[in-house]
Amino acid sequence: MTMGGRFTLYAALTSLCCTLMLLATLVYQNFEQQKLLWTSVLEARLTGPGHWPSTLHFRNTSLAEQGLGQLAPAHQIVWSLAQHVDGEVLASLPIEKGEGRSPILERSGIDRLATLVSTRGASDLILLPPGQKLSLLPFMDRLVVISVPVFSAIDPLRTDLPYEAYRQQQFDDVQTGARYLSGYIEQGAYVGDLLLATLAASLPAIAWMAAVLSITLLVIHFQTRSLTAPLLHMARVAESIDTEELPKRVDLPPGSDESMVRITAVLNGMVDGMRQMRTKLDGDRSLMELRADSTSRKLDRAQAEVDKTRHQIHRVSYFDPITGLANRRLMLEHLSLLIQIAARERKHLGIALLDISDIRKIQETKGRETADRVLRQLADRLVQAVRASDVISHEPLAQDIARLEGDEFCVVMHGIYETDGAVSATRRLLEVLTEPVRVGREKLSVNSCAGVAIAPLHARNPEELVRAADVALSCARSENPGEVAVFDVDMDKRGSERFWLEADLRAADFDREFYLVYQPQVDPGTGSVLGMEALLRWRQPDRGEVPPVKFIPIAEQTGLMETIGAWVLRKACSDLSSLKEGPSAPPRVSVNISTTQLNSDFVKLVRTAMQDYHIEAGELGLELTESILVESVSGATAHLKTLREELGIHLSIDDFGTGYSSLAYLSKLSLDELKVDRGFVMAMEYDEAAVQLTEAIVAIGKKLDLLVVVEGVETAEQLSAVERMGVTSVQGYYFSKPLTLEQLPDFLAKAGEA
Ligand code: C2E
Ligand code: CA
Ligand code: CA
Repeated sequence: MTMGGRFTLYAALTSLCCTLMLLATLVYQNFEQQKLLWTSVLEARLTGPGHWPSTLHFRNTSLAEQGLGQLAPAHQIVWSLAQHVDGEVLASLPIEKGEGRSPILERSGIDRLATLVSTRGASDLILLPPGQKLSLLPFMDRLVVISVPVFSAIDPLRTDLPYEAYRQQQFDDVQTGARYLSGYIEQGAYVGDLLLATLAASLPAIAWMAAVLSITLLVIHFQTRSLTAPLLHMARVAESIDTEELPKRVDLPPGSDESMVRITAVLNGMVDGMRQMRTKLDGDRSLMELRADSTSRKLDRAQAEVDKTRHQIHRVSYFDPITGLANRRLMLEHLSLLIQIAARERKHLGIALLDISDIRKIQETKGRETADRVLRQLADRLVQAVRASDVISHEPLAQDIARLEGDEFCVVMHGIYETDGAVSATRRLLEVLTEPVRVGREKLSVNSCAGVAIAPLHARNPEELVRAADVALSCARSENPGEVAVFDVDMDKRGSERFWLEADLRAADFDREFYLVYQPQVDPGTGSVLGMEALLRWRQPDRGEVPPVKFIPIAEQTGLMETIGAWVLRKACSDLSSLKEGPSAPPRVSVNISTTQLNSDFVKLVRTAMQDYHIEAGELGLELTESILVESVSGATAHLKTLREELGIHLSIDDFGTGYSSLAYLSKLSLDELKVDRGFVMAMEYDEAAVQLTEAIVAIGKKLDLLVVVEGVETAEQLSAVERMGVTSVQGYYFSKPLTLEQLPDFLAKAGEA
């Protein structure tokens, strides 16, 4: 509602209230007058010589009743009563009004009312008995009673006069002016009836008032409109400023006074200000749109980068950088699928492991470059030969041929029916490999042998199948070089390195056979040592040094890793503690832990070791692989949290990029360090994409506030490449091979001098 409308409404309500109050006063006055009129009419009818003094004096009830009937001419009188001066009621009657009588008259109880009135004497207002609600407004049912005395000219104590003489004497004695009270006549009417009569009398006044009220309201309405119109105009202008186009100028509305002139001036000032602001905002908006456009383009580019990176991660982690063939991981995953399919189709699936034993020799004598070129040529030949072989594959897949280790290739054979077929197919591959290789001007020839294993005859899972082929291969290597050997169980018992390794591992005297070597992590900028990675070594009395890649998987599979790991942890702590007593000690020693080690006992183990050897928070680090997180070893996350937050352990993710490389896990866990796998540095030499990929991983690590360590840096070129990426911690042969505890002080001292 507008302001003017509201004002008109209030004014109208006030006038209405005033009019109603006036009307009420008027009606009340008229009502009182009506009562007076009624009383005086009754009085007039009773004065003068008449039959009422004698009727009352002689207590003549029938005459009294008759008289009461004649006394009630006004139609609203509903009840009347004649009473002797001593209080005796001579007659009382409800007055019947014929056709148009009020329903109120039909009430029962009117007689009781009469008695009530008589016992209480004359009273102005008498309530109806309770429970008798007859009208909407309760006060309408109230009875208004008037009581008029009847005077006699004759002393009522005179008893000598008979009725007629008494009547006559009245007329005579009137002249004397004597007045004796002989009784009362009372009449009653309902308030409602009386009010109606009053209202009828007030009708002209009401009409006048209504007219005056209407005129007043009209005047108020127009007056208000003329007052508020300029304001309304201004409000509309303000609204249009808010929503639509800005007006050029706000005009002064007609009929404006001094204050309107001022308001208009202020509004015009505001419009100008807003126009300037809008111009600026429009400019800003276009600028923002431009920027948003370029941001979204950048985002698109970033998405493309991410997709590319993902593809590259896949390449680096599943393919051999030198030959471009599948690597061990891809081969194992591929085999797992093939073995299932073969089992379902009740077919055989064979693999051949081909060993090119001379590669190492070529590397040593002719250099790595030449060795790599030889490997690449041999790989190409293998691919050609596999394509040409029916037994191996009708339609070979890229992952059917892999380079597992430095000098080991693996080929999948799909169409195997019997062992002989597998052997002859493998023999053809060996022939292809033993043909001399031309590198530059040189012709180099290599010796090779092969081991064959067939699923499900020899194994039912990929690891076992490769292991069986490996057993056959080592048998061929030692018993008939240049030949193909097929796996058999006896061979396994006889030659299985693994079998004996496991036995030796179980029997190992840890303190005598195990020791730790330490490889430093160095800040390439300053040359300072940031930490040392503890690496386990096993010097088996009969075999000599057994590399960790050989015995650690066995320890993990046989449940020995928990005991060995505990030994490593305590040994690393004790070594650090003894270094701390000497002239220099590394700021931190990190220990590798296997998935199987991380349980609640492990937290206890670390706590005790730290206490026993007085290792402070920050001095001990743990390196874990992504599989710990991905395989969701129960409670692993909680244990890691305790280790890091309560014991101050420095946590690193090892070999990042080779496994799941899940950024989600990285950001979910609270970690301190990310170690980029050696494979990336190796691939950088052959693959420009690997450089970008390493760069991306370093950037991600930094973004997540992690210390990024690049592993396996061997050459100055590799070092400067990773330095350019902003890497501040490097580990690799370039700085140092793993060192024994005895060699450490020297190294640390030199590093301190640098
Ligand atoms: P890792 O944790 O990735 O350790 C790094 C490996 O790379 C070490 O091999 C190290 O000697 C080698 N390495 C370091 N720099 C270079 C380099 O510049 N060039 C080359 N070619 N190699 C380099 P290592 O000692 O043979 O250990 C192999 C793996 O065995 C380790 O990989 C780790 O996964 C496992 N391992 C070693 N000690 C332990 C241990 O105490 N506990 C557990 N659970 N695993 C261990
Ligand atoms: Ca490690
Ligand atoms: Ca590593």
